[in-house]
Amino acid sequence: MSLAPEADRAYFAAFLDLRGKPGIVVGGGPVAALKAEALLRSAVRVTLIAPTLCPRLAELVLLGAVRHEPRRFQPGDLVGAEIAIAAADDAAVNEAVAAAARALRIPVNVADDAGRSSFIMPAVVDRPALQIAISSAAAQSAEGFVSLVGAGPGDPELVTLRALRAMQCASVVLYDHLVAPALVGLARSDAERIYVGKEKDRHALGQQEINALMVRLAREGKRVVRLKGGDPFIFGRGGEEIETLAAHGIAFEVVPGVTAAAGAASYAGIPLTHRDYAQSCILATGHLKDGSAQLDWQALARPKQTIAIYMGVGALAHICAQLVAHGLPAETPAALVEKATLARQRVVEGTLCTLASAAAAERVKPPALLIVGEVVRLRARLAWFDRAAEHSPVA
Ligand code: SAH
Repeated sequence: MSLAPEADRAYFAAFLDLRGKPGIVVGGGPVAALKAEALLRSAVRVTLIAPTLCPRLAELVLLGAVRHEPRRFQPGDLVGAEIAIAAADDAAVNEAVAAAARALRIPVNVADDAGRSSFIMPAVVDRPALQIAISSAAAQSAEGFVSLVGAGPGDPELVTLRALRAMQCASVVLYDHLVAPALVGLARSDAERIYVGKEKDRHALGQQEINALMVRLAREGKRVVRLKGGDPFIFGRGGEEIETLAAHGIAFEVVPGVTAAAGAASYAGIPLTHRDYAQSCILATGHLKDGSAQLDWQALARPKQTIAIYMGVGALAHICAQLVAHGLPAETPAALVEKATLARQRVVEGTLCTLASAAAAERVKPPALLIVGEVVRLRARLAWFDRAAEHSPVA
């Protein structure tokens, strides 16, 4: 009596633990895609070798779920791999993969060719690429992990695919007050959401407490997303937060975001640099501790330079006066962009001489970004968002 599924082959049934191990898939078509997805589901770190990719595989590469080597297979490619799959549409390539795998004693599956395969695998069902990417990332790490994620300036569509993926893997999301609620809503439905606010809020946690909380959650084995407005490394204390993680030996990543200056400039129609008007752009904070000159005004007040000032609403009059005192013409154009990239965005324009009183009259409130420089004039021709909003039913 034989238990073999085929007359000439007796298969030994086993489940391989390949979590976090490297695997190679050769081939760029739909069959390779199904095989790659099966490996991803078991948390294999997949490298694809194929000169071209079908849309499905291209999507997995874009989502960061697999690595892609855009070329033909070479036998050396299998060195270090723990599993190999040959799914090219060229039989000679598949044969080369099978031969190399056998030489290296790596389990190999050749699509539709049990004779050349050292193992066979069950057929796989179709699932959305994003879901596969997400579950593979989650499965690969049983340890705690923190993603420090830039949430962009407000419009939730301005986050990166990597940010989205981190959000959907997270079991805990820590967010502060500048982060759009719609973004927090992108977390998995079973994820815990913790508002950590900002230091000045009464209900919020201080920086030390936030740092300690992240360490504790990661030590519990949680996947934590720390969502920060804009970019984590631009006036966001991101550096301090991950220093604590690094000091405690906790694994982390930093996902960049669209910083407020970039978001405000684009949505207000003010290019931060321009061949004719500004060859440099300087980012500065207007949050002045004792209300006076901690900034290098001389360096800011340079010709042909755009100045983008964060947190500048409170000290606006002081900032404008100092820039004039250090040599910028009083008629230099300046704009305050309030709630940039959101439907309620407002732009108040003036000059270094007039902007402070205009902003007071319009009651501009934080968050707002101050842009100073000749480039502000271009807004007259380049503003698009306010006009788009006029035609949009949601505005
Ligand atoms: N890390 C953030 C900045 C945090 S500091 C970033 O990279 O953008 C907070 C300041 O950012 C605010 O005071 C304001 O000056 C600016 N800011 C953040 N979001 C903004 C928005 N939607 N519109 C205008 N300014 C914004």
